Amino acid sequence: MAGLTFRDLSEIGVERIKGVGEKRRAALHDLGIDSVLDLITTYPRRWVDRTNEARIGDLEAGAEALVLVTVRDVVKRSTRNKRTIVTATVGDGTGRLHAVFFNQPWRERQLREGLTVALFGRAESYRGGLQMTNPIVDLIGDRTGRIVPIYPQSEKAQLTTWEMAGWVENALDRCRERGIADPVPESVTGPLGLVSREVAFRSIHQPDTLRDKDLARRRLAFDELFRVQVVLVMRKRALERNSLGIRHDVSGTLVQSFVERLPYSLTSAQQRAIEEISADLAAPQPMHRLLQGDVGAGKTVVAVATMLVAVQGRHQAALMAPTEVLAEQHFAGIRRLLDGLQVSDASNLFGSRPLRVELLTNRVAGAERREVLAGLADGSVDLVIGTHALIQEGVRFRHLGVVVVDEQHRFGVEQRAMLRTKGESDNPDGTVPDVLVMTATPIPRTAAMTVYGDLDVSVLDAKPAGRTEIVTHWANGELDEMAVWGDVRAEVAAGRQAYVVCPLIDESEKIEVASAEQTFERLRSGELRGLRLGLLHGRMSAADKESVMDAFRRGELDVLVATTVIEVGVDVPNATVMVILDADRFGIAQLHQLRGRVGRGEHASRCWLVTGLQEGVNPRVEALVASTDGFELAEADLELRGEGTIMNTAQKGRSDLRLASLRRDKELVALARKAAFDVVDADPTLSSQSMLADELALLFTAEDEEFLFKN
Ligand code: ADP
Ligand code: MG
Repeated sequence: MAGLTFRDLSEIGVERIKGVGEKRRAALHDLGIDSVLDLITTYPRRWVDRTNEARIGDLEAGAEALVLVTVRDVVKRSTRNKRTIVTATVGDGTGRLHAVFFNQPWRERQLREGLTVALFGRAESYRGGLQMTNPIVDLIGDRTGRIVPIYPQSEKAQLTTWEMAGWVENALDRCRERGIADPVPESVTGPLGLVSREVAFRSIHQPDTLRDKDLARRRLAFDELFRVQVVLVMRKRALERNSLGIRHDVSGTLVQSFVERLPYSLTSAQQRAIEEISADLAAPQPMHRLLQGDVGAGKTVVAVATMLVAVQGRHQAALMAPTEVLAEQHFAGIRRLLDGLQVSDASNLFGSRPLRVELLTNRVAGAERREVLAGLADGSVDLVIGTHALIQEGVRFRHLGVVVVDEQHRFGVEQRAMLRTKGESDNPDGTVPDVLVMTATPIPRTAAMTVYGDLDVSVLDAKPAGRTEIVTHWANGELDEMAVWGDVRAEVAAGRQAYVVCPLIDESEKIEVASAEQTFERLRSGELRGLRLGLLHGRMSAADKESVMDAFRRGELDVLVATTVIEVGVDVPNATVMVILDADRFGIAQLHQLRGRVGRGEHASRCWLVTGLQEGVNPRVEALVASTDGFELAEADLELRGEGTIMNTAQKGRSDLRLASLRRDKELVALARKAAFDVVDADPTLSSQSMLADELALLFTAEDEEFLFKN
């Protein structure tokens, strides 16, 4: 008989397991466990190695130790200032120990007399006895075996780890006869030395040694990553296979004359990216490429060069930004870059005409909007910059050749796909535009392989020469803050300019604006009195914003007090000081973005991160002080926040990464990706890998499934 597949296991309800009655079934359901598959993929969160345990009689005061003990007695009392203290007296036959818990009143219920528990902590001598304060407690129950798995427990559902362990054991015992099938081809698992799935499930739940547990984890983590990669690689290959791309003519002179007119020469990283992109553009398959680069790495120039390749071949190009402010800023900047460029036009008397760039957001209305729409439809607009308004009903292109998406983690896979289809439905010959996605927030390589696994990647890993390093300081508390304003005044006196970024207020833009106005007034009449201050925020009209920005650019303002609207795109080389208030409210990536607004000219620049923290510790602020490298910071960010936030665009639910970690398992991510390419390229529709295909269909969401099986 064939081994049990994940589908088979998903069809056996947990109530079939010995000891799971109606009440337990409901409790398990609350934890998301309905089937035997759910049960055996609920992994222990820790393993207690009994062979490693110490005896109480041998404990030395001051040393950390794991002891396996029986609860003798539990007492709860309250101190005068209303704190509760639970003291459990425990013993193991060689001695006694007090486990003391502060402010954990529920321990009284948890630690019942007679229970076997593992305690991990530092033993101290106290009043002639031994004591552990707030040790880690694992309930062992009556489990035997050298290594005891500790499962996630639920106080609320009253499920204990030994019950879980018992059910898993029962489930695995009942799988023994048929065995657990392995859908990952031997050609993949063999060379990587991965244990079989059958072995992996047994050893993750009931390992004989910790090494067995590690091997099991490696196998099961690999499977999680491999499944995600197979889906991504299939998506990538299907797009390449099923859509008709445009073979752009990359020999034209428009890009060249654009590059020649730049006041600087391209960095080698920019050149390399443009070459990679040009190769994609010239190829018959549509491009799906990610351009990663730190703030200030010069992505805009690469994006513009990409769009000009389309334009020189008489196609149109679009750049989509996540917000109106950003679209407006890109528009202003790019129009300046393209000023004076001509495109060849046979129908024109002179054989050429000025390149036409337009803006399309929801703020562009009336006659102006009609004109832009008409220009897009008849092809007289070469390049359009806008928001998601670009993909709305009623927007028609004559022949869209390239789309650049300035993503910044705000668009999803679906929106990217929509923009692509937009071209597809409009273009008379059914071709699909090439897509370049830009992220201003670098993400670590292995994470990129997962989050953007359906894209190719170009990296701008070198900054333009002549940039001055930005020195970052942390100003914590009022005294430090005084120094900040002193520095701003000194820089202004030396002819430089400064930004002050106001606290980020998540709850509402209205409150954020109010607080920015307050800060502006406070500084103007207080710390920065006598300087020329401007205010910029997201609720101002485009014209007002533009005039404030222009005044700042022309040096008519010394200090720009702003909300995060200045996050991207603002470029004033004479600005050398960035002050970020309540910096602890921002994320690492955002702080790094903001900081990138200075250090753009010849003068030394500084960034002040201002906080008012009691504790005087903040790992994010500290990371920013320690590094100016966006990729390094991205690693730090992943370290601090964990995967959850990065995986938001990827799969959810049963396809979650439960064991695998993008942070810890970098090597495994790369191996899984390579294996996925091998498998998919040998058999693009997985026609001879039906078990694997079925498992993906089972574990991935409807939307992923549709994608997988539509093709
Ligand atoms: P990013 O979008 O990657 O943060 P930008 O495209 O906004 O960076 O470029 C940042 C600044 O660097 C701009 O002022 C731009 O004019 C300038 N710049 C871009 N490429 C170069 C280069 N090769 N040499 C010098 N300056 C450059
Ligand atoms: Mg930019």
